[in-house]
Amino acid sequence: MHELSIAMGIVDAALEEAQQRGVHVTAVHLRLGALSGVVKDALLFSYEVACQDTPLQGSQLIVEEVPVVVFCPQCEEPRTLASVQSFTCPECGAPTGNILQGKELEVFALEVEERSDAQVKAPPDAAQSASRQEEVPR
Ligand SMILES: [Zn+2]
Repeated sequence: MHELSIAMGIVDAALEEAQQRGVHVTAVHLRLGALSGVVKDALLFSYEVACQDTPLQGSQLIVEEVPVVVFCPQCEEPRTLASVQSFTCPECGAPTGNILQGKELEVFALEVEERSDAQVKAPPDAAQSASRQEEVPR
């Protein structure tokens, strides 16, 4: 499934960002163009799958759908297409393939919260005693 690999890419990028900033991601905001070739429902499902067993599990993917906007050579104005089936200006009917937007597939925001418990609860005992045993000469 095409959407699963896209969702995994989104999750990977969000995880990396979260790690660098030392935060926990609670939601990912994505712009999705009508011409991106991605089915929103399939992507939402794939995102949940991709988040399983990662720190992003339980986070939300929030999709902002972007309509197709073309530049009409006749009106000399950007026009929003009513349908991706016909690339003609909705005002004057002139054909146009000059796409200004609608191919977006981009994460533009992350909702995060501070990871307050990460350091406090880490029990150092096990790791330390293990390394001490290795240092004992025999
Ligand atoms: Zn026009």
